Amino acid sequence: MVLLDLGKKISNAVNGALNNSNDDFVASVDNMLKAISTALLQNDVNIKLVSSLRSSIRNKLINGSSDNASLPQQQRKNLIQKTVFDELCNLIDCKSSTVQEFKPRKRTSNVIMFVGLQGAGKTTTCTKLAVYYASKGFKVGLVCADTFRAGAFDQLKQNAIKANIPFYGSYSEPSPVKVAMEGVAKFKKEKFEIIIVDTSGRHQQEESLFEEMIEISNAVKPNQTLMVLDASIGQVAEQQAKAFKESSDFGSIILTKMDGHAKGGGAISAVAASQTPISFIGTGEHIHDFEKFSPQSFIKKMLGLGDIDSLKDMMESVKHDKVAQEVQENMRQGKLTLLDFRKQMEMVSRMGSMAKMTQAIPGLSDMMGGNSEQLMQSTNQMFKTLFYIMDSMTKKELNSDGSIFFKEPSRMARVARGSGTSVGEVEGLIQQFHQMGSMMNSNAQRKLHQEDLMAAN
Ligand code: GDP
Repeated sequence: MVLLDLGKKISNAVNGALNNSNDDFVASVDNMLKAISTALLQNDVNIKLVSSLRSSIRNKLINGSSDNASLPQQQRKNLIQKTVFDELCNLIDCKSSTVQEFKPRKRTSNVIMFVGLQGAGKTTTCTKLAVYYASKGFKVGLVCADTFRAGAFDQLKQNAIKANIPFYGSYSEPSPVKVAMEGVAKFKKEKFEIIIVDTSGRHQQEESLFEEMIEISNAVKPNQTLMVLDASIGQVAEQQAKAFKESSDFGSIILTKMDGHAKGGGAISAVAASQTPISFIGTGEHIHDFEKFSPQSFIKKMLGLGDIDSLKDMMESVKHDKVAQEVQENMRQGKLTLLDFRKQMEMVSRMGSMAKMTQAIPGLSDMMGGNSEQLMQSTNQMFKTLFYIMDSMTKKELNSDGSIFFKEPSRMARVARGSGTSVGEVEGLIQQFHQMGSMMNSNAQRKLHQEDLMAAN
């Protein structure tokens, strides 16, 4: 991710100043500020914001107190680190408002309406948000009120089916207002707690788009309106956010395509400068490439400092998962199948993969030589290979404990051919699964033995 490179450059600049043993405090702070400013400008952050960040840090470190230069080395280090961190957070923090949070199991329906230009990532993000809330234990439904773009309903439908989220839409009804109203009414009647309405976009900001947005909004009375904005447009994000804000009073923004775009940092700071809160960011095309946004968490992760809050969020996301509970029950009973193994791997990849977790655990990324990006790529590839292999297995094979492959080795060759892998890779996966299975079995047997002993006593 390009922003991790930016983080690395900033960390290097700070570390350079911290490790500078020569006593010219002012010169080392100025060198650090120069390197930080260059890195931010290269990442499309607005020049005014960069120069204001530069003078705030300089003021706090140099002009604020003449004693800073004579502080003991460790205190001086802490001060520099804290000041840079705080000011980077200030740069992307929109202090004027906070994002509304919903509480699960309230038995009330909350309607969330999406707005934004075509191609910004609205439909994809609707499903991401639906999955986010479903993983927190909410009953979530999706409504496709985009009757403008051909294929929009099919896209939402496919995403929703894949993510196991109930959906509503129409192939024949031309009025987006009517579809939105019907969908929301249906889900409200069925006591859905979060109802997400996808609306249509246009290629540019047009009168007709704003009129339609207002009509739908008046009809479904959303509790929250979210604007989806493509981060790859960089600083222009500020203008676009303002134009939408004037016609639809949205609560917050979701910035998409934050992966791999140098302009992402520019978009975040520009949006923050327009006093609009950012609620989430999209970091890829996959359903789980989605993160709650908080300035502190974002900066911590970017600088490789880890972020316990997002780790908690990841753990929370599997707590309510029915599939996770089923797999755990099978594990407890020592009846693990290859299908359970697949589900387990899905869960891990849904939590954002081990490498994403590495970024969230303070210090771990550093321990791995700051190479979490490389690790992320190799774990993602490993997961993909595992899924390709398991997707080429028959139902009978998936519902087995895997020994069928050793009894009939031709099955391995068939799976390898179907998944574009080697027989060795297929065998490796089954062996891995067997090892896990025998561990589970001995645990389960130990548990049963303990239960027998307790019953006998
Ligand atoms: P809509 O017209 O606003 O509904 O946009 P879509 O949801 O159809 O998305 C447009 C394109 O952007 C699709 O190819 C998505 O896969 C892609 N997209 C959406 N969000 C992200 C993201 O966070 N990162 C990346 N790389 N692509 C995204």
